[in-house]
Amino acid sequence: MKRLVGIAASPGIVAGRAVILIQREQVLRYRVPQARIENEIARIGASRDRARQQLTDIRSSVHAKHGSDLASIFDAQLLMLDDQKLIPRAVEIVREQRVNAAWAIQRVFDDVSAVFDDIADPYLRERKGDVADLAGRLKMNLRPGRTTPRDLLRELDEASVLIADELPPSIAAQVDWTKIRGFATDAGSRTYHTAILARSLEVPAVVGLQDASRVVQPGQLVAVDGAAGELIIDPGEEILERARRHADDGAPVAGQKGEPSGPAVMADGIRIRLDANIEFPDDLAAARYAGAEGIGLYRSEFLLTDGVRARGAVNADEEEQYGIYRRMLEGMAPGAVTIRTFDLDEEDAESRAGNGWVGDNDRRSGGGMRGLRLSLLKPEPFRRQLRALLRASRHGALRIMFPFVSGVEELRQARQMVKEAAAELGLGAEALARVPVGAMIEVPAAAYTADLLARDADFLTIGTNDLIQYCLAVDRSDARVSQLYKPLHPAILRMVVMVRRAAARQHIPVSLCGEMASDPVVLALLVGLGLTEFSMTPAAIPLARRLLREMRSEDLRAIARRVLRLATVEEIEAELERNIVVGQRG
Ligand code: PEP
Ligand code: MG
Repeated sequence: MKRLVGIAASPGIVAGRAVILIQREQVLRYRVPQARIENEIARIGASRDRARQQLTDIRSSVHAKHGSDLASIFDAQLLMLDDQKLIPRAVEIVREQRVNAAWAIQRVFDDVSAVFDDIADPYLRERKGDVADLAGRLKMNLRPGRTTPRDLLRELDEASVLIADELPPSIAAQVDWTKIRGFATDAGSRTYHTAILARSLEVPAVVGLQDASRVVQPGQLVAVDGAAGELIIDPGEEILERARRHADDGAPVAGQKGEPSGPAVMADGIRIRLDANIEFPDDLAAARYAGAEGIGLYRSEFLLTDGVRARGAVNADEEEQYGIYRRMLEGMAPGAVTIRTFDLDEEDAESRAGNGWVGDNDRRSGGGMRGLRLSLLKPEPFRRQLRALLRASRHGALRIMFPFVSGVEELRQARQMVKEAAAELGLGAEALARVPVGAMIEVPAAAYTADLLARDADFLTIGTNDLIQYCLAVDRSDARVSQLYKPLHPAILRMVVMVRRAAARQHIPVSLCGEMASDPVVLALLVGLGLTEFSMTPAAIPLARRLLREMRSEDLRAIARRVLRLATVEEIEAELERNIVVGQRG
């Protein structure tokens, strides 16, 4: 038995097998049951096969466009795929240590990268980037489609304790706390929101442990004593007995009950609309279960991922799309479903979608050719999607939303295409008027011209995930600047206010669908800034509803007014910490 002492964050005592989440690298390490080892190994094989196909395709396209020198980079990666020290070693690690495939791949590639650090030749040293690139590809291929820690945590099949280096509130709000009984984090002082959340959820937690995520082994039995601020590794019978008693005393398990639906009503009667963000039509069930009023963002480009492709939707042709959209509208009725048209960049379009998106002469633009811009540049697939959407609109409450809008002319052009598609389908003006068409505000230019866009849009939706990145000039995937990605930066808050006002002046609805809304403290601030409609990941909805019920909008408006006068993120965080109290029950 060994005790690590940290900061008591949320009382209660629980025990379970440890699951390790390393946020920095986004790799989760967990113990795989013996019966699933072969399956885990098969996933590595499948990932390698996918990587081989992808790299061969990339290689021939690079060769055709840029010649053999550049193409040889991918020759090197293809060779690495067959290197005995890489994939076979990862398989060995899975078998020997009974850990998950992504972790094993990360381990092997970390070891190999370390060797490159000692190489004097700068050219060879640079090849470390290729190693990381290949490791990233293999990990991505383990799960076709987007993989988030939330997806991975869903796979757990026994009660566990989460040990993380950091646990941001937006992830904590999405964890299924029926499976994860408590958590302990290395970080502490910076995660105050997460500690507050834990108390509200009545999930025992200890923070500020410094190196628990390194010391604890996946699958090891641990206990979290949230009142004492201790993480106990290999706890003795006395502690386990206390944990059992705590569970028997009816320690609530967050999120276990069915959730109420309809708007969240605040203590002073203000109604807040909570919609769900989803990626796959199957997620509709989770949205309904969480009590979402409707779908505020369906990321339709996920139709084109490998997962769906495997089920036959290679080109997502009009007929196929129509069927999918119709089922979604019927499944969510009477709630509205906001379908965002494909938000792809050129690279995505080529690798996921093929057919009709990118021709031979296209050049990659490194970030700007995306979303609505790409749809307008390649109108054929866009037209197919619009026709499918309009046909489906007869079966429910559809809203069409365009991503990555940066100016009024793009919006007008897109609306014109909607009109043309409606005319082709013989859809009258009345039927068309029943389908609101809106713009996402996720490019600073759109935020600054929200008053102009609002005249040509039926609704606006603020997409802070991209807006923060483009407004603050921070690429989240670049570790050197990712700490500057701050949702509470005064510039972001001002933009939110600007967009809300623009929408109000034109009497059109405005919502916010970025990740930041799933942090309940930030959500409270956004309500204080005047927003009343949000769309978030389904798992975050029940908690948001519960916390909003305890708050008064007037109080939040007063806090928001003070926050808007503050100059730094630190001051804003301190103001929120002092004034927005959630989950006092703990
Ligand atoms: C956003 O940018 O805030 C958004 C919701 O879109 P996505 O996360 O799909 O880019
Ligand atoms: Mg976006």
